[in-house]
Amino acid sequence: MICPKCEYEFVEGITKCSDCGSDLIHTEDFEGNLVHADDWVILKTFAEQYEADMLKANLEGAEIETLVLGQKDRSYPTVGDLAIIKILVRKESAEDAVKILDDIYNNEN
Ligand SMILES: [Zn+2]
Repeated sequence: MICPKCEYEFVEGITKCSDCGSDLIHTEDFEGNLVHADDWVILKTFAEQYEADMLKANLEGAEIETLVLGQKDRSYPTVGDLAIIKILVRKESAEDAVKILDDIYNNEN
């Protein structure tokens, strides 16, 4: 799934871009050029750096390679939510990463 505006790719199951709120489109329907290497997908976005760092630590503990993309300038207001820190994983490990994500956030509730 890809945001047609931001051109970020998200894991399957996410339907809205967490940055701009646009409805995501299927990867095969996207005709532009991806900003990022196409083997990385966004797993989750955060407003707080420490939350992203915690998830990164969890994923790397499970030997899943993780990329954190932050936004340096926090003074820009974002439309909708404030999720600006992106956690990316490789496509081939996305499924495992989603399971870990589920474990972490289900345990919190
Ligand atoms: Zn977007």
